[in-house]
Amino acid sequence: MSNKNNYRFQNKTALITGAGSGIGRATALRFAELGAQLILCDINKASLAETAALVTERGGRPELEQADVSDWDDMQRMAGRVHKRHEALDIVVNNAGVATAGDFLSTPIDNWHWVLGINVMGVVHGCKLFGQRMADSKRGHIVNIASAAGYYAAPDMSCYSASKHAVMGLTESLRIEMAAFGVGVSAICPGVINTNIVKVMRTSGHMTEAQGRISSFYSRRNYGPELVAEAVVSAIEGNRAVVPVSPEAWALYAAKRLAPEVMDKMQSTKFFRKLMP
Ligand code: NAD
Repeated sequence: MSNKNNYRFQNKTALITGAGSGIGRATALRFAELGAQLILCDINKASLAETAALVTERGGRPELEQADVSDWDDMQRMAGRVHKRHEALDIVVNNAGVATAGDFLSTPIDNWHWVLGINVMGVVHGCKLFGQRMADSKRGHIVNIASAAGYYAAPDMSCYSASKHAVMGLTESLRIEMAAFGVGVSAICPGVINTNIVKVMRTSGHMTEAQGRISSFYSRRNYGPELVAEAVVSAIEGNRAVVPVSPEAWALYAAKRLAPEVMDKMQSTKFFRKLMP
């Protein structure tokens, strides 16, 4: 692994949403190792403080921002505070996200509002509030944490998949627009990563009794969020458009492109129904 002589990160200002847990925390720790100045954002103050302590142990001095990414007013206030301290950010990682599982008919409408508010509007807010200054300064990189569910939609995942397909579409379009200003935009598609996401996901219908089983599948699979953090670094270094991370994410990415009709058949098998979020 590279360390502090990475010029793309050394003393660069990087904001990460959802930095209190899982992929956001791992990304914060990796960026700290690379010498970035961190702004850590999460809705959960206690977990944000835990990440901050870990970053501090690695020699970082993170700035902390408690904010709800789904709330435009809250995000505007945060962006105002951040831009008072920093003219423009170098890196924004729109990572905060939540998951749902359940067939479409049993999914309460509140779950749709919850997931779309955080997974889609949270990313929109981050891109909109920090993108303009990045464009003005003609530099920087936006990383949106999408999912393999951004190109692969299994049964019982309509809500989560719709949110991640939206993130992929937003990212693809924004990447072309922002290239004109010298700003990179990437989507990361992790796959099955052992974090808290399945433990806090909202379920409905027959997926409610399956939550414990899915959670233990994720633990047993034990693919760590550090690998996603490394993919974020690689996306920025290489200005990569889409970065699948785990072997499943790569397999689904290739299959969807090369053999979409085979994918249609596989998607209804039991194994694939376990692969969420
Ligand atoms: P996690 O639950 O471990 O962490 C999510 C973090 O986001 C938490 O700290 C939480 O407090 C924060 N958060 C939630 N709602 C928020 C809000 N409204 N405002 C601000 N912060 C909020 O989950 P994770 O697995 O690290 O997920 C991170 C991202 O990775 C998500 O976008 C998720 O969809 C994506 N992802 C995860 C997996 C996986 O297998 N873990 C797979 C594909 C994509």
